Amino acid sequence: MYIMTDLEIAKKVTLKHIDTIANKFGVNPQEIEHYGKYKAKIPLSKININETIKSNLILVSAISPTPAGEGKTTISIGLSEGLNQLGKKTTVVLREPSLGPVFGIKGGATGGGYSQVLPMEDINLHFTGDFAGIEKAHNLLAAIIDNNIQSKTNAIGIDPRTVIWKRVMDLNDRALRRVIVGLGGTTYGIPRETGFDITAASEIMAILCLAEDLTDLKKRLGNIFVGYTFDKKPIYAQDLKAEGAMAVLLKDAIKPNLVQTIEGNPAIIHGGPFANIAQGTNSVIATRMGMTFSDYTVTEAGFGFDLGAEKFFDIKCQSAGLAPKAVVLTTTIRALKYHGGASLDSLTIPDTEALRRGIPNLEKHLENIHKFNVTPVIALNRFTTDSDQEIAMICEFAKSIGVRIAIAEVWAKGGKGALDLAKQVIEVVETNNQQFTPMYDWKNNVTSKIETIAKEIYGAKHVDYTAKAKKDLKTIASLGLEHLPVCIAKTQKSLSDNPILLGRPKDFIITVREIEIAAGAGFLIPITGNIMRMPGLPSHPASEKITIDNEGNISGLF
Ligand code: ADP
Ligand code: MG
Repeated sequence: MYIMTDLEIAKKVTLKHIDTIANKFGVNPQEIEHYGKYKAKIPLSKININETIKSNLILVSAISPTPAGEGKTTISIGLSEGLNQLGKKTTVVLREPSLGPVFGIKGGATGGGYSQVLPMEDINLHFTGDFAGIEKAHNLLAAIIDNNIQSKTNAIGIDPRTVIWKRVMDLNDRALRRVIVGLGGTTYGIPRETGFDITAASEIMAILCLAEDLTDLKKRLGNIFVGYTFDKKPIYAQDLKAEGAMAVLLKDAIKPNLVQTIEGNPAIIHGGPFANIAQGTNSVIATRMGMTFSDYTVTEAGFGFDLGAEKFFDIKCQSAGLAPKAVVLTTTIRALKYHGGASLDSLTIPDTEALRRGIPNLEKHLENIHKFNVTPVIALNRFTTDSDQEIAMICEFAKSIGVRIAIAEVWAKGGKGALDLAKQVIEVVETNNQQFTPMYDWKNNVTSKIETIAKEIYGAKHVDYTAKAKKDLKTIASLGLEHLPVCIAKTQKSLSDNPILLGRPKDFIITVREIEIAAGAGFLIPITGNIMRMPGLPSHPASEKITIDNEGNISGLF
């Protein structure tokens, strides 16, 4: 049987005009800013905090990711279609894709099969230009820094060797990871080593996604820590008077984008911070916009529950005063078999023994959800190769520990395939009085915050700090930044900081190598293991198959 690609399915849908979607969402089409017929920005003035409180926020997360793919975005979209089919006004609120993965290995981030947001080509490509705005704001600060180092009359004494602010670009380009700028002579700047990160890893992205409004955005931009002067005084973006001009470049990027799902429901796509070195969820502004106009707001956090969801709860929810009502934990039989030791090319073969060995990974993530005092619902994202025996085994496991489970066939059927999942989510929301509680208080000291996450969420027995990390702790104290939450950078592949420890590793030690400061975004980044901020392309990148014909039809986008 021929299986249509995501793009082929997307192209068969007759799109509704964005005015129709705006009406359905609840905003007067005259008030939106049109970007063509199918995309629009919604002004921030439409957010109403009193309305947001009435909305039920649902977080979609997953077990530890594997190369087999889990399908959080696909489940988020399908669940929102299912909830809409059951008469609950629902909006799915997602992150914007980055061009790096689109042309690299992962492909797009607009869902899959019959659970997609549209127009998928546009959303996966330049969309409404938000990433370009973020890139320009980031690189403006970099240009201002190098200009200040060069200046004879305006110099604030920046020690070029201490500048941590790099440049960004939204492509996978490993050759740019380390560069020397300023070569060419006296009028070409002062030579120094720096580098490029991918735009999604920019602190500006993290800032935009936590900002409440333009004033808050400007304040956070001003707080960006840049480096030190020769006499060891810290320098922030505001010392370079950069934040105003940077905010101007973000005046449109800060507004959330309205698009539609395959079934013609509203969807909001806005911001796209990494889930390892940043908070990994869409913007506070987009979440609030969705909540202002919907009974149910479904959102996704990147990677597994231990990374994106922990940060969603402890950083984003605490920062914005959000309280999710349920967590949908996306799980696949393939991924669990992989956690149970099955090889990637054998995942389509039924193997209940590997599945049994992989289930502890699921179990740990479920325990973690309970630690936040939120009720989980397992969404078993069904693949055509899943056997009935394997499905029965997962359902029995869920029953044995008293956790709800729904078999989701959203990829094959759209909202119809999510009706059971949607019903169970509604039941949880309507019967549950649990109050979400974060893992730690921001006021705790930095090592206690790190240890709480490492021990409670990852399952570590101990946290080690390198000499560099200990020095960083002193720096953080001297800058008066100990009150910031921690955004731990860790591999997504394992609950531990060692990517090869699959399943549910125990008794491991987490090593904090260094602690970076994202004072503008408002968090500290303890780094464990090797974290990539500028990915490379594989030897056969997805770009080799992507093209456009003379009529403007794109193919190969996945
Ligand atoms: P995540 O958000 O967890 O990274 P996505 O929802 O983007 O995952 O899905 C990753 C890929 O897997 C997409 O290309 C999607 O089409 C595919 N996919 C998801 N669910 C299924 C399924 N049930 N059957 C087949 N392919 C699926
Ligand atoms: Mg996703």
